[in-house]
Amino acid sequence: MLSACALLGAAARGAMGAHAQAIRAFANFASQYDYDLVVIGGGSGGLACAKEAVNLGAKVAVLDFVSPSPRGTRWGLGGTCVNVGCIPKKLMHQAALLGEAINDAQAYGWKIASPETIQNDWSALTEAVQNHVKSVNWVTRVDLRDKKIEYVNGLGQFKDANTVIAVMKNGSKKELTADKIVIAVGGRPHYPNVPGALEYAISSDDIFSLDTPPGKTCVVGAGYIGLECAGFLKGLGFDATILVRSVVLRGFDQEMAEKITNEMLDHGVNFQFKCIPKSIEKKANGKLLVTWINTESDTEQQDEFDTVLYATGRYALTKDLNLPAAGVEVVPENGKIDAINEQTNVSNIYAVGDVLQGRPELTPVAIHAGRLLARRMFGNSKQQMDYDNVATTVFSPIEYGCVGLSEDKAIQKYGADAIEVYHSYYKPTEYFIPQRSIKNCFLKTITLKEAPQKVLGLHFVGPHAGEIIQGFAAAMKCNLTMEILMNTVGIHPTVAEEFTRLNITKSSGKDPNPASCCS
Ligand code: FAD
Ligand code: NAP
Repeated sequence: MLSACALLGAAARGAMGAHAQAIRAFANFASQYDYDLVVIGGGSGGLACAKEAVNLGAKVAVLDFVSPSPRGTRWGLGGTCVNVGCIPKKLMHQAALLGEAINDAQAYGWKIASPETIQNDWSALTEAVQNHVKSVNWVTRVDLRDKKIEYVNGLGQFKDANTVIAVMKNGSKKELTADKIVIAVGGRPHYPNVPGALEYAISSDDIFSLDTPPGKTCVVGAGYIGLECAGFLKGLGFDATILVRSVVLRGFDQEMAEKITNEMLDHGVNFQFKCIPKSIEKKANGKLLVTWINTESDTEQQDEFDTVLYATGRYALTKDLNLPAAGVEVVPENGKIDAINEQTNVSNIYAVGDVLQGRPELTPVAIHAGRLLARRMFGNSKQQMDYDNVATTVFSPIEYGCVGLSEDKAIQKYGADAIEVYHSYYKPTEYFIPQRSIKNCFLKTITLKEAPQKVLGLHFVGPHAGEIIQGFAAAMKCNLTMEILMNTVGIHPTVAEEFTRLNITKSSGKDPNPASCCS
């Protein structure tokens, strides 16, 4: 019998054959419009969709336009991930990890002439990061030109369901008509209505190109961006305080969130729990005075910072699109588009990426959905995007990778009696010599209790969490069970092998601490 993975592979190969046929059929298609497809938004989802559509023979144009942030930061083609998201963030995270590695290196025998003088040079770092970003902008432009995708650097607005007007920087307008239109406009940081926030605070749009070192920083928000930014700032040597409104990483497994919080506290990040800003004032000395309210004790506190960074979520960029002209409906509360199978309420208009209601705001999600949509639009494909069991990683100082259900959600869905949790602390071999703390290196697998114990969720806090979880996410797609996991031979000595060594259940009450490195 074919395995689930083999079947998936065969289905994919079959789909490619259908695509080739469709390309030939599509080449004969004579359109009354300028383009077969216009994509509004040249970020992760829009570009993936446009490139796949062109591969399938469609005539495509992409509009991309970046309005400056409230602090005036602008950037080039490629969207959030490349310019002000995943890529610069990962580079700064790496810079912070290298700082720790320099410390470790001395324990491993590296002689550093004067360790006390080691410090990060913010302007050298931002320059290196921005040079990389600009090189990606350039490659993206060249790629569009080579693929004969028309790139229009204008703000897209609908005139009707088949016409988009691009408003250029100089105010001139260009009209493009298309059979199909994809909205892939993503989002931008949200600033709550707090006095001084919009005037004085920055966001992730600004931090990666900030021309002066951020100094002592107050980060508002304890989601992905808040934790990641506070984490790398502290790692680079800046004082960092996080104002947490409710809990850290709401929606994630809270046992794992606690490990990350503890590790960040140990690294010296200051957390102010149950606190929301009341006001931000600029003092005569240039410092920012932040006043916040502790909603539990109903008390006020203040401190002075050099920088305040808002990381309180992102809003969808649908306001500028003049959607009523095309009849596209949005969710009134947040302006996002609720599109079943990426198709809006107007049949020839689609949406992918962060602009979608209730979908993970992640680059690979936008890319995969964009590609599959192009194949359905121009390649006779029927394959829909599967938004379940999408793996993700928070690049906090100690990384957290996960896929599938959190323990709370598994209990909610199946009931506490139906699930089993396998858990363990572990000791990364490379932590021994520098005597790094291992107290937050922890992982767990959530399974159904009944044999063969289908895996519902995998959670890992530790080094290289993203690299580790990626492979296990593929295994989950193939219906991973605890039985399979226990029969998988590990690679020693790695931290990923810990998933193959899990044998202590939470329900047993046994100590999940390991006896030795090789037990
Ligand atoms: P975007 O990439 O935002 O692209 C939309 C583009 O459309 C933008 O260029 C925008 O300016 C343009 N646009 C908007 N309106 C118009 C208009 N009317 N006309 C023309 N152009 C328009 N995801 C991960 O998977 N991993 C990570 O590590 C990660 N880290 C992140 C870190 C940060 C700080 C942030 C902010 C995000 C991060 N993300 C990460 C999320 C990821 O960046 C987004 O999920 C992804 O970029 C969404 O792609 P998109 O195509 O929907 O939108
Ligand atoms: P987020 O994860 O939704 O977190 C927002 C945080 O801000 C939460 O802690 C929230 O608290 C808090 N908050 C919201 N409104 C507030 C207010 N008015 N006052 C004070 N605090 C407030 O959003 P994000 O961190 O901005 O990230 C946006 C998206 O980008 C994420 O959903 C993620 O998909 C994507 N992203 C991914 C990665 C990655 O893959 N590594 C990295 C960065 C970003 P409550 O919990 O109380 O609401």
